[in-house]
Amino acid sequence: MTTPRARPDDAGTPQRHRGAAGRRPDRWALWGLPRAALVYVLLIDLAAVGAIVATVTLTPPAPQAWLICGLLFLGSALHAEAARHIERVRISPGDKPFIDLKSMWTFAGLLLTQIGPSLVLVTAVFAYWWARNERRPPPHRWIFSWATVVLGTTAAGLLLDGVQRDTLLRVAAGPTGLALIAVAALVRWTVNHGLVVGIIRLVSPRTSLRRHFASPADTLLGLGALALGAALAVLAAASPWLVPILLVPVIMLHRGVLVDQFRHAARTDPKTGLANGAAWAEVAAKEIARTRRHDGGLAVLMVDLDEFKAVNDRHGHLVGDEVLRAVAASLSAEVRAYDAVGRFGGEEFVVLLSGVDPEAATLTAERLRDRIAAIDLHVPTATGGQAHVHGLTASVGCAPCPDGDRSVDDLLAAADEALYRAKRAGRDRTVTADPTRPDVGS
Ligand code: GH3
Ligand code: MG
Ligand code: MG
Repeated sequence: MTTPRARPDDAGTPQRHRGAAGRRPDRWALWGLPRAALVYVLLIDLAAVGAIVATVTLTPPAPQAWLICGLLFLGSALHAEAARHIERVRISPGDKPFIDLKSMWTFAGLLLTQIGPSLVLVTAVFAYWWARNERRPPPHRWIFSWATVVLGTTAAGLLLDGVQRDTLLRVAAGPTGLALIAVAALVRWTVNHGLVVGIIRLVSPRTSLRRHFASPADTLLGLGALALGAALAVLAAASPWLVPILLVPVIMLHRGVLVDQFRHAARTDPKTGLANGAAWAEVAAKEIARTRRHDGGLAVLMVDLDEFKAVNDRHGHLVGDEVLRAVAASLSAEVRAYDAVGRFGGEEFVVLLSGVDPEAATLTAERLRDRIAAIDLHVPTATGGQAHVHGLTASVGCAPCPDGDRSVDDLLAAADEALYRAKRAGRDRTVTADPTRPDVGS
């Protein structure tokens, strides 16, 4: 199931929305959305309500359909309980759709019954996950997410409507059934996902479109959940008693969603969000190999804040941490998207500049130092006061590599050596190593 992830418009942590302020309609975060996004969200929500009312009243479902949906709801509740500890540690970072697995239950509902009851099932499943979720998103986001699933399910249901539900699973024995179920799953996923990408685009239009789509791993997960839903439907039709067996691989798969998160955590410095030293070195090694194959130089910069200990001594380590975050953000903002910025350790940062000659690298180093000097930070302190941090300076060691003929370690050592010279010469400057004689700085 695809849900929009936390976005800048949803200021504050999800939990904060439980407060009295969150419940007052005039305080809903929904109203903070840009106008176009607000209209879009309200239209989708309205369309979802319309779809439920129309499908339930136009073709009143048979009692058996309600029974099946009730059982599927129980299964999804069990799933939610078993996966709670996983969802608790799962982060939903950034501006991409957030995928989870509850769609398997609702997709099975659609295959086994009709549109109407399966939409009621979608609603019940969303309500349950909301009630049991410790890190709730703001209500308007959850409702929007529900609406996109309702519309995706309706679209897939309309497609399947040509086929009688009780014969669908019989056809499923043949290739036509496979094709039908696959197309229905794709339609559901595309509508759901497309509507979510739509709102993310409206809220942050400047980010490149590619960044808004789910990663290939997440896409596989979303489609995998629907495939499990199809398997669940077939199994339930053949022998409902065997359904609990499916719960085991489902929980296994659910645990698998953490792998991506762990991989991300292993590569990221938690304080600044930059690549950590190991991840940065990996990127740098690839870039060096690329430079060796194609023409064009590169350079490694080592940036060290001057007298940073004094900032800590004066304002405390928490303020120091804020400064490190501000420096990290400044460095990332100043270089191009494909230049890699990493936190080497403490108050030292590394920057890999691609496609630069030694002069351009030195100029970039100076620009980075200007950017750091321009930081003007007011940070609330633990004692209720405010720390004002400004006038920071940094020293930079620059190690150019015109031909990609040196290793990462070599370049780091050269940058470190140049940085040492910069410090010795009085700080607040850039020293560039001679690419032909790395031990000599200028
Ligand atoms: P220099 O100009 O010679 O680089 O002086 P400096 O004070 O910046 O350098 P030094 O290496 O003596 O001290 C680095 C300081 O960085 C010491 C430590 O308190 C601080 N530091 C390292 N990591 C962190 C961190 O994660 N948070 C905070 N707040 N401070 C840190
Ligand atoms: Mg320092
Ligand atoms: Mg240092």
